Amino acid sequence: MSVALELTRCPVCDAADVREIAGADDLTAEAEELWAFHTRRLRADTPAERLADRVAFSQRRPYRLVQCVECTLVYRNPRERDFELEKTYESEIIGEDVLQSLFETQRASYEAQAARLTDVAGRAGSGLEIGSYVGGFLAAARKHGWNFQGRDVNERANAFARKQGMEVACGTLEDLETRHRYRSVCIWNCLDQLPEPRRAVRLAAALLERGGVLAIRVPNGAFYAALRPALKRFMAPVARTLLAHNNLLTFPYRTGFTVRSLRRLLEDSGLVVVRTFGDSLVPIADQWTRRWARIEERGLKQLLRVPGAAGDAGAALSPWFEMYALRPGRGQS
Ligand SMILES: [Zn+2]
Repeated sequence: MSVALELTRCPVCDAADVREIAGADDLTAEAEELWAFHTRRLRADTPAERLADRVAFSQRRPYRLVQCVECTLVYRNPRERDFELEKTYESEIIGEDVLQSLFETQRASYEAQAARLTDVAGRAGSGLEIGSYVGGFLAAARKHGWNFQGRDVNERANAFARKQGMEVACGTLEDLETRHRYRSVCIWNCLDQLPEPRRAVRLAAALLERGGVLAIRVPNGAFYAALRPALKRFMAPVARTLLAHNNLLTFPYRTGFTVRSLRRLLEDSGLVVVRTFGDSLVPIADQWTRRWARIEERGLKQLLRVPGAAGDAGAALSPWFEMYALRPGRGQS
């Protein structure tokens, strides 16, 4: 399939000034390193498609990555035209056993996210999750007393989530028509993939009741931008391991939010940021992972979790981060 590319301005602040983070040759080299990284960590009898799962992510590798000088956002420039991207997602086919194992491995992380959300929101209520995928968060939120609905473009994942007893609909944030106002809207691991994040945040904010919470979790573009130069120096093995275990090598996302650029985007939409939380990627080790690699991953992610408690500053040093923002007004607790 040919890809239509176009040059673009910063999708958060519309500035044109950028510095290059990674060029085409850098990203090709990273793809080769990523392949080698996972090959070494998987057992020799791993089925080929399980290796492919880890390396061939839904999102195509960027052609070039830049960082906005004004708001610090990391993004693809040139970028794929929008319609190409949605097609990639809708046609993604993943086996039932893989969906089941995702649902299981993500359970603990979603449990913690549901607890943080409840804490920030003050009380449970009705919620909407955009990009609900297999329904792991919906299940966790229910345990905390929430009544969440999911929304996702992947019908196969939706069918799986319904089988787990979750309420999900097929669609995007853009095509949702409702007069309902939610206590919370969550966009976990998905805002970074959307073609128009500014529009998405504005639409999500409008769906909140007064005092309601928008919760977002994204890969940290600043973490990638900081470690990227080290891939070419003597610290290369450490930088590569940190990036790869957090699914940041080759940066398979459309937008790399930073604490500063996401805060700006939320405030531009009239929201008030009330909490920032730094984290690492959910565990990816499974039955095919060699023992030493499982221990390496667990140890590394434990270490990276330390800065999490320190708000904006801690989150800025983390490979992934969450931001919680309130719609101001009556009902705020
Ligand atoms: Zn910008």
